[in-house]
Amino acid sequence: MVTIYIAFTIVNTFRNYKNIPFRATHPELIREGTMSEKRIIYLDHAATTPVKPSVADAMWPYMNDHFGNPSSIYRIARESKNAIETARAQVAKAVGAEPGEIYFTSGGSESDNWAIKGIAFANRKKGNHIITSAIEHHAVLHTCQYLEKEGFSVTYLPVDRSGLVSPPDLEKAITDKTILISVMYANNEIGTIEPVAELGAIARKHKIPFHTDAVQAIGNVPIDVKGQNIDLLSLSAHKFYGPKGIGALYIRKGMKIDNLIHGGGQENRRRAGTENIAAIVGLGKAIELATADIGWHNSHIRALRDRLLTGILEKIPYARLNGHPEKRLPGNLNVSFEFIEGESMLLWLDDEGICASTGSACTSGSLEPSHVLLAIGLPHEIAHGSLRLTLGDANTEADVDFVLEVLPKVVQKLRDMSPLYRKSGKEGGCNV
Ligand SMILES: *Cc1c(COP(=O)(O)O)cnc(C)c1O
Repeated sequence: MVTIYIAFTIVNTFRNYKNIPFRATHPELIREGTMSEKRIIYLDHAATTPVKPSVADAMWPYMNDHFGNPSSIYRIARESKNAIETARAQVAKAVGAEPGEIYFTSGGSESDNWAIKGIAFANRKKGNHIITSAIEHHAVLHTCQYLEKEGFSVTYLPVDRSGLVSPPDLEKAITDKTILISVMYANNEIGTIEPVAELGAIARKHKIPFHTDAVQAIGNVPIDVKGQNIDLLSLSAHKFYGPKGIGALYIRKGMKIDNLIHGGGQENRRRAGTENIAAIVGLGKAIELATADIGWHNSHIRALRDRLLTGILEKIPYARLNGHPEKRLPGNLNVSFEFIEGESMLLWLDDEGICASTGSACTSGSLEPSHVLLAIGLPHEIAHGSLRLTLGDANTEADVDFVLEVLPKVVQKLRDMSPLYRKSGKEGGCNV
């Protein structure tokens, strides 16, 4: 028995030792067994982020002893209720709101739907005009398209070549029928950070509710809803190292807004459904950590991002950066490579254990190029050859250097197969 046990332990120790390949610098993100099957270099943090161990730890009791329904009156129910109110205060603090202005939802998509449909339907007697931008997430764009079928009219503001909405354009688009302005805080594909405070000031001047989808901004950019004239703000936990399927909508006190989910009286009678307590606790913990870590996070991933960009532009010809060179999320890189299909690049990178994206996860798999890349003026064929790499807290210089070793080879391999590349006569220009 003992011999078998010892042999088993030795074999196991050896196996564990062989499987340490996930190299992380941020201690929060190292947990034995996490991502240990294969060496994975995860560069798709705009799609989702791993849950921080301390966030998971905070959630665990609410899937065990603390299972009470917060609407009930006994003690264990009060514990659930208290946990929700603690999380609400944590979210409020992170964005500069009052706890009473924070409502929990099932995520970014629901928050966007609620903000836009809720304001539109509550104010339809005043007017039917909505202003948004051409580069919004589909949770905003498709909601606006739905409202167009319901008799609303929508202006989709264009953006410049770096993805910026122009405040004077916004002001010109306002009519006496405008009841909502919704412009995202930071773009999920190209990382451009919009002049939200300026846009908000214009909305405030015209007394029009201003919503911003800040799903990508939380944890990357300091947010202050009062100082930035924001009336409604969407956020989602899984974009800042929290769990999936939980988010929040900030609704400034006094806003006229319809409910989206009807039923029980939860969330101050504004959003029905028994609360997802564990997830709400996870959201609270994650947003607290994300705001506390914002300085470390920014300098860490910005440095890696710049190293990656410099390397790519140095090693790969006919590559260009998409989005604004400075006004961009610290971890976002979106690069177009001429003569290449982004999707095939992803498959080759996946083979090497590198997780990347061509745009938003929702468009991956469709043949249409990204609406964001088209909106910044990229021709179809260049938009198709785009790669999004989004860095996170656990990435290291070694990750970046590995990508810089693999990516030029992948690009060259695909270009060698491309008839367009051969026709262009540019083959000689490659220095891989
Ligand atoms: C991810 C994302 C959403 C959707 O959030 P979910 O929680 O996945 O529904 C909305 N807007 C932006 C900008 C996003 O990046």
